[in-house]
Amino acid sequence: MHTLSTVEKKYLLDSIREIEDFPKPGIKFKDITTLLGDEKAFNLLMDHLTNRYKEMHIDYIAGIESRGFIFGAALAALLKTRFVPIRKPGKLPYTTISEKYSLEYGVDEVTIHIDAFSMPNNQKPKVLLIDDLIATGGTATAAVNLINKAGAECIEACFVINLTFLQGDLDIKKTTSVYSVLEVD
Ligand code: AMP
Repeated sequence: MHTLSTVEKKYLLDSIREIEDFPKPGIKFKDITTLLGDEKAFNLLMDHLTNRYKEMHIDYIAGIESRGFIFGAALAALLKTRFVPIRKPGKLPYTTISEKYSLEYGVDEVTIHIDAFSMPNNQKPKVLLIDDLIATGGTATAAVNLINKAGAECIEACFVINLTFLQGDLDIKKTTSVYSVLEVD
């Protein structure tokens, strides 16, 4: 399996712009639009993910709204597999199932179409979950639970960036393996 060199990781990290105090004071927002706008960085990332996952027989890639759609759909096409969107409530048009999770104040929810995953012979589909970034891990943990609730098996949760100081991966690791391309502390 191809691993990224220190130089390649630095190139990717430098391609991501950081915006201070967005969307609220104290948050350092990792803006991946600058990575997408740099063809060398975008291709480096997608080649790396293709190499990592090409032998894993993934039946579906599930992307978390909205930046997980970009990387997830691109990877699904490269792996010649299927893509499923995991969305905020009220966005998916057909019957959905959902999973709630706690925020610092209040609750949030992720939803998926009830028939999102189907396989011949009633096999359990193998799903790769993808998002741009893991912070507290609340969204991704709920998404893993949702995938399992929908009758599939989440074999790994993949992130472009892990904000390691928040230790958001610890909870998800109880249910699936976690892979982050870049770690930031
Ligand atoms: P969490 O549930 O706390 O892990 O938050 C993860 C979600 O919020 C992901 O969909 C991220 O895109 C977004 N997010 C959280 N913190 C940041 C950040 N510092 N920069 C960019 N996106 C973030």
